[in-house]
Amino acid sequence: MAEVVSSPATAPTSFHVMVKPRGPICNLDCKYCYFLQKESMAPKGDKFRMGDDLLENYIRQYIEAQQTQEVSLAWQGGEPTLMGLDFFKRVVELEKKYQKPNTRIANALQTNGVLLNDEWCEFFKANDFLIGISIDGPKELHDAYRVDKGGKPTFDKVMHGLNFLKKHGVEFNVLTTVHAANGNHPKEVYTFLRDVAETTFMQFIPIVERDNETGYQEGHKVTPRSVTARQYGEFLMGIFDEWIKRDVGQRYVQIFDEALGAWSGYEPSLCIFRETCGNALALGHDGDLFSCDHFVEPNYKLGNIQEKTLQEMVSSEEQRRFGQDKKDTLPRYCRECEVRFMCNGGCPKNRIIKTPDGEEGLNYLCAGYKAFFNYIDVPMRFMANELRHRRAPANVMAFWAQREASLQEAFSKASRNDVCPCGSKQKFKHCHGR
Ligand code: SF4
Ligand code: SF4
Repeated sequence: MAEVVSSPATAPTSFHVMVKPRGPICNLDCKYCYFLQKESMAPKGDKFRMGDDLLENYIRQYIEAQQTQEVSLAWQGGEPTLMGLDFFKRVVELEKKYQKPNTRIANALQTNGVLLNDEWCEFFKANDFLIGISIDGPKELHDAYRVDKGGKPTFDKVMHGLNFLKKHGVEFNVLTTVHAANGNHPKEVYTFLRDVAETTFMQFIPIVERDNETGYQEGHKVTPRSVTARQYGEFLMGIFDEWIKRDVGQRYVQIFDEALGAWSGYEPSLCIFRETCGNALALGHDGDLFSCDHFVEPNYKLGNIQEKTLQEMVSSEEQRRFGQDKKDTLPRYCRECEVRFMCNGGCPKNRIIKTPDGEEGLNYLCAGYKAFFNYIDVPMRFMANELRHRRAPANVMAFWAQREASLQEAFSKASRNDVCPCGSKQKFKHCHGR
């Protein structure tokens, strides 16, 4: 591993760390989980619990390193609630101890929801935790892969936990993974999340799971559980079609927010869509720091916070190179792509296929991203224009309804070999005429 050089000149003013206080330990056994296998990386006898000294060391260093008014801490797993409530009470105590004047501290915790109860939710509410809860859609879709250690379905337990969040008015959002089982059901998933889970903020994360023994980002094969590129694109279009009918300004879908920002001329905020990355790291229960949550692998270990400072590792040449490679390895096909301003080639972990002209390094999801970002071009331009003129982007709903009505008329008159009236540049028979 390259020597880590401290370089205050390149130190980011803020960065993000996903902390895994129980390492990869989880009470569920979701079939597509990329983290459960990490257990084998730890030495024998490891208890997988972050100790108090290490926790204090981390919180002190992390708060000191952030040069922003809002300092956000993120707790993840494995399953972080397996640490018990006292651990998080201590987290809050330590945050108060090291909080800088005129700053605000925020906590986000991602959970499968199974252990939530009145006590947890009273604590979350009292301390303003933002909770992310993982739900893959209605029961039959959620239970396809999200099972417990005995292989049993978990939907009912998760909904039970979700109800505690609602009961106590805890702020929450839903993280839904998109995979082979729910990928063809965007409408069912979206209406479920909106009307039953009653979430106002949703994230849809594609499952692109490598098929190998190591659990590392190696090889070019993906498992059959993975969503296909086309399926992911159609899933996002399906969600968009539902959202734009009545929910703009009421429900927030992360990728749509990112897109509106990009169409308005801002660089996306989500690492996967930025030109470079490297400011979203992962910290294990033992203090090991890794370049990214998706690269918790020996080759991407930057060091341990008990031996080197967090700031030093985040600013290291090694980490800078990790982030810069995202841009420098972009194939020509991406550099010339019409939606590059939004996509930037996506996450490097998924760049495992070849471009049509044979260059390595194209994103497995490319076909889906291309189709989706082109599909939303017209409404995004409309919304960005509304924003520029200080009008509500939600006006797009009336605009879209009108456009849909004229399109339906054009579809009814189109022949199979005509260019599709939707603007996709594909033949009608391969597009809306399918
Ligand atoms: S590798 Fe992917 S997930 Fe990790 S920081 Fe880069 S873009 Fe983000
Ligand atoms: S849509 Fe495809 S070609 Fe365009 S930037 Fe994204 S991955 Fe590259």
